[in-house]
Amino acid sequence: MTQPDLMDKIVALAKRRGFIFQSSEIYGGLNGAWDYGPLGAELKRNVKNAWWQSVVHHRDDVVGLDAAILMHPRTWEASGHTVNFADMMVDCKNTECSKRLRADQLNNGKCPSCGGTLFTEARAFNLMLKTSLGAMEDSSSVVYLRPETAQGIFVNFANVVDSMHRKLPFGIAQMGKSFRNEITPGNFTFRTREFEQMEIEYFCPPQEAEQKYREWIDARFGWYINLGIKKENLRLREHHKDELAHYAAGCTDVEYNFPFGWSELEGIANRTDYDLKQHAKFSGKDLQYQDPVTNEKVYPFVIEPSGGCDRAALAFLVDAYHEETVNDALRVVLKFHPQLAPIKVAVLPLLKKNDSIVALAKKIKSELQKEMVCVYDDTAAIGKLYRRQDEVGTVFCVTVDVQSIQDQQVTVRFRDTMQQERIPIARLSGYLKEKLI
Ligand code: ATP
Repeated sequence: MTQPDLMDKIVALAKRRGFIFQSSEIYGGLNGAWDYGPLGAELKRNVKNAWWQSVVHHRDDVVGLDAAILMHPRTWEASGHTVNFADMMVDCKNTECSKRLRADQLNNGKCPSCGGTLFTEARAFNLMLKTSLGAMEDSSSVVYLRPETAQGIFVNFANVVDSMHRKLPFGIAQMGKSFRNEITPGNFTFRTREFEQMEIEYFCPPQEAEQKYREWIDARFGWYINLGIKKENLRLREHHKDELAHYAAGCTDVEYNFPFGWSELEGIANRTDYDLKQHAKFSGKDLQYQDPVTNEKVYPFVIEPSGGCDRAALAFLVDAYHEETVNDALRVVLKFHPQLAPIKVAVLPLLKKNDSIVALAKKIKSELQKEMVCVYDDTAAIGKLYRRQDEVGTVFCVTVDVQSIQDQQVTVRFRDTMQQERIPIARLSGYLKEKLI
């Protein structure tokens, strides 16, 4: 299977099985925006929960935040976005093409769409999406949809220190929507104009920054591996000095081997004390950290692990995709890590016309769904029902048959191996929970 074929298959499966739909499809779609269907919404929620658990709940040194998307326009002056958050853009001069392109995405100087070689002069295009706030639509009402969640953390630094009595080093984590008017959105949900980020700003004494930077690189790389990404599909790429922003002391990307090539999932940067100093300068507020014992003041350095939820979800989807031949037929399986699988268990009656079997299956489902995401399906023969669940990555199928009525046992089938085991109904929930961890 060639790599473009693989991407086509995943996009088709995502639509067919309710993971991801084109935004506003009935109106012809909106470029750069996607909607998550019932199973995609579960997957994305699981990705976010796994991230929050790992960086907030399972640590002693990070707290969460949920700041507003709309922020004071001065924020973006302080952060540099108003002036610097731009891509260089050119237009293809072939009148039949006229594509607007990012200057750094030409194919060896050629238009990726028509192969043309003549372009307009490159000009800067600011990626922030503008809107206006309140009833007056003049320049004083202009605000931006945040292009990153990070600035919501910096402007709340003093609030969190004061309210939570945090001592250095500590971090603030936040996830939520961000917006960028990307010139060339594409590669499915990889580059979109509306997306969700998962970001941490980890504040530490300047002398600890290098060590914390390395620790966060390891922690974030490990997170993807622990959630099932194959090692050979994940790598770290450290930025060269000339790629770094002027204030940054280091940056390393976690990259995934997508069907369209190695691409960034997340960046971990040592941003020095740049952001807090900028906001102090623009707001006139003292944003230094004061040591409660020595009373010494310092601008902490910041380590920023900054990832995209949609990109992570896409990587988990691509990595989970698996095809094999079973009894001369194609079996498509999404081998999601159990924590990420949208559905944990499907309860299936072997005979949908047998009232006792159906009643028992429904009873089992209604008990299980109190503890795990569970579905009931009786709309096809058992072989087909299994394949359907495999294709969306359901971890276990529980089949209720005639024998179950007598011996109060069911057949549990594991997605990856298709192996089956007979389990007493009384032990079912405990058995499944143990395996789903
Ligand atoms: P790229 O170079 O791919 O444009 P970036 O380096 O500008 O990404 P950051 O500003 O570091 O990205 O944003 C942090 C994370 O947010 C990225 O690693 C990515 O996962 C996610 N992200 C950024 N832009 C987009 C986008 N347009 N669509 C989806 N996710 C995005």
